[in-house]
Amino acid sequence: MLDKKVVELLNQQVNKEFYSAYLYLDFSNYYYDKELNGFGNWYKIQAQEERDHAMLFMQYLQNNGERATLEAIEKPGVELSDNQAVLEAGLNHERYVTSLIHAIYEAAYAVKDFRTMQFLDWFVKEQGEEENNADSLVKKYELYGNDPRSLYMLDNEMAARVYTAPSLVL
Ligand code: MG
Repeated sequence: MLDKKVVELLNQQVNKEFYSAYLYLDFSNYYYDKELNGFGNWYKIQAQEERDHAMLFMQYLQNNGERATLEAIEKPGVELSDNQAVLEAGLNHERYVTSLIHAIYEAAYAVKDFRTMQFLDWFVKEQGEEENNADSLVKKYELYGNDPRSLYMLDNEMAARVYTAPSLVL
């Protein structure tokens, strides 16, 4: 049986991951609207990944005899002012998600819930990658974003991203 506090946080995380998917769909729509279809594609796939994360948290609760409670998903709360600001907002959001994952880990650690810690290990690593990817996008935009030809090439690079299912199987 899982600790009540741990269940509460895992349940919250289901919602937070769906919110992330929602937020990145908003980013995706922003870029498609600007005809930066590669960036649009990149964030559309990112949204799919976030939905996968939500499903994994839900599945983990199910596997442990807990029923997830689905709450209302908040409206995307980031003002999309310009191409670069969106990428920076993405990086900030991933840092925030890392802090959420770490908080669940702390709660599990406090009650010696090794099973949940082991489940979360994948997400701890995943967040390292997410932050790294988001940071890389910010830096690339700083370098190339103000030159139309370079931006065109960067957009093409982003268009090449394809969806892959998460490596974690529960
Ligand atoms: Mg996520």
